[in-house]
Amino acid sequence: MKATFLPINPPQRLLMGPGPINADPRVLRAMSSQLIGQYDPAMTGYMNEVMALYRGVFRSANAATLLVDGTSRAGIEAILVSAIRPGDKVLVPVFGRFGHLLCEIARRCRAEVHSIDVPWGEVFSAQQIEDAIKQVKPRLLLTVQGDTSTTMLQPLAELGEICRRHGVLFYTDATASLGGNALETDAWGLDAVSAGLQKCLGGPSGTAPITLSAAMVDVVRRRAHVEAGIRTDAHRDGEDEMIYSNYFDLGMILDYWGPERLNHHTEATSALFGARECARVLLEEGLDAAIARHKLHGDALLKGIQGMGLETFGNLEHKMNNVLGVVIPEGVHGEQVRQILLQDFGIEIGTSFGPLAGKIWRIGTMGYNARKDCVMQTLSALEAVLNRLGVRTTQGVAMQAAWDYYGESI
Ligand SMILES: *Cc1c(COP(=O)(O)O)cnc(C)c1O
Repeated sequence: MKATFLPINPPQRLLMGPGPINADPRVLRAMSSQLIGQYDPAMTGYMNEVMALYRGVFRSANAATLLVDGTSRAGIEAILVSAIRPGDKVLVPVFGRFGHLLCEIARRCRAEVHSIDVPWGEVFSAQQIEDAIKQVKPRLLLTVQGDTSTTMLQPLAELGEICRRHGVLFYTDATASLGGNALETDAWGLDAVSAGLQKCLGGPSGTAPITLSAAMVDVVRRRAHVEAGIRTDAHRDGEDEMIYSNYFDLGMILDYWGPERLNHHTEATSALFGARECARVLLEEGLDAAIARHKLHGDALLKGIQGMGLETFGNLEHKMNNVLGVVIPEGVHGEQVRQILLQDFGIEIGTSFGPLAGKIWRIGTMGYNARKDCVMQTLSALEAVLNRLGVRTTQGVAMQAAWDYYGESI
């Protein structure tokens, strides 16, 4: 019998959806490096470097800055499972799919979950959130910074001070926004932030960088953990209920990343090499320069789409730099367009969920793909496909509009 399982050889694609996107080749090269032992000084040295690099990425002095092995939701879950005690009140401002995810995970942690809503395509004012905090009196505020489901970016800068005044711990999921939009962990008073690599950081999914304030570390540390059935922490009176997950027990993960290096899991070595290179690439460019690049190419895409006469989704004042919602024109089958883009151009753009399913496409310009050539290729391909399907756009206007925009801003 002939071998039927061929070596991996994925097709060439330009990933212009809401993530994942093409990984930076430097990240792929770093990930193909040979493995070393978990406690090899070279490995623990890399772990320490990763902590230092991600302090730069998160703009934080937090000692507790490390990687959770797993996709972005592993980072979310580690923080929520470790911080939420059964019965704790949490407040979740929901402006898209990932707000619902925070509610769902918090419920599994047996929190008393309170959520507030705005229509999809909008964000909350600081006043709306403070009013809800006054009413609910939560222990934690769980937010999403950039929700790719709606392309909106929730302003966070004022919320830390509000949380401090009301004695509330402040968390955000910055998976989709970090590296492409401003995030100031310390200056904005965040107690916990989690992220992933497959959006603006230009890496593969499977690693979740997180950072925790000293106050959040205290919360986690109050919850004793067990190792192989034996308590490793001295029991203290009034100690909070044990964290129910071993894998996501941040106390144990902190001990593994800390100077004691207590064995927990085997750090995902290749993934750590990739995460380290993602941060190196980003900080070499400069965080502010990378954010400006995401804004430039995100705006060029917007000008091109508007030039084509297509409508965009949501309040553009609060749009993330790195993803745009495009309203599918009347009479066009959104999935057919995506299929032709993929088959004939090798370009992938995003579909949508929930109330937006079948109504908008989501086009990303992020990480390694926040580049002029990616924007121009995507605009020209989309225009060609729409024309092929009988949608009248003036030929070439989209590209001219994007070029004009680049001309103005270079
Ligand atoms: C894309 C995205 C994620 C992804 O989570 P994974 O577990 O890596 O799939 C999480 N949160 C937000 C806000 C996102 O946009």
